[in-house]
Amino acid sequence: MSADSIIPFAFVSLPVRGALIHLSQSWVRMQRDHDYDALVIETLGHAAAATGLVAQSLKFDGAITLQIQGSGALQMLVMQCTSDLDVRGMASMDEDSVASSFAELTDNAHCAITVDAGERPYQGIVAIEGESLSSSLENYFDRSVQVPSHIVLVANENVAGGILLQQMPGQPIDEDDWNRLRFLLETLTATDFDEATGLNLIRKLFAEDDVRVHESRVVNFRCRCSDQKVEDVLKMLGETESHAMLAERDSIEVVCEYCGEKRSFDPVDVSRLFAGNVVTGPDSVQ
Ligand SMILES: [Zn+2]
Repeated sequence: MSADSIIPFAFVSLPVRGALIHLSQSWVRMQRDHDYDALVIETLGHAAAATGLVAQSLKFDGAITLQIQGSGALQMLVMQCTSDLDVRGMASMDEDSVASSFAELTDNAHCAITVDAGERPYQGIVAIEGESLSSSLENYFDRSVQVPSHIVLVANENVAGGILLQQMPGQPIDEDDWNRLRFLLETLTATDFDEATGLNLIRKLFAEDDVRVHESRVVNFRCRCSDQKVEDVLKMLGETESHAMLAERDSIEVVCEYCGEKRSFDPVDVSRLFAGNVVTGPDSVQ
């Protein structure tokens, strides 16, 4: 099985560059500890492919996060990809709501893309419109980033994939050519990835065009959670609250929603956490 990857490419005779993303192992891993229904799997998979494609298209050092916050069936969806192409993501649902389309799933929801490259994070609002995340993102590229783009996203429980095509700045393209490329993109389905991958899929899709393919980049599932971050959350919660939680059970268990890692804190751990820098060893001279 080929590794999960993004392949950047460019059209030799058209002022258009693109990238193909194909996620399988990382995508399956992302769903491991969750029980998502088909619609959520599709939407989360689209988000995974899109976030990877956006991360690849930017020159930055940090992480980009696509976040949808809703009040209907979908409560929250977070997808994050670093500039090293480490990806993670999750969705949480309202158990009592049902949705049968992307529009219903994201009714009244807000979507934002945050580019965090250290100093000052930049956030762009993505208006949720159309029948899928791809049409919302296309509009986002047109309006916020001002780079005319075509994006296609496909996903099922085994594959999350997609292609992003972007016009080169300042180089006009014939409208017919641009529309033809959109038409070709729209033929992409998740099952295409079963038959051809990587270079072969690009060649198959754009058979009439001369396409120059650049070196592929590996995408990995990798969570950014750590003992330290969970301890910081407990510290923010406060000593009183943490001990109150322990009064009801033997330990506080914190499960990472992204990777499923369990961390547990017993009374000794909690006391240590709030003891700060007080040295209590035999060498203490307090
Ligand atoms: Zn984690």
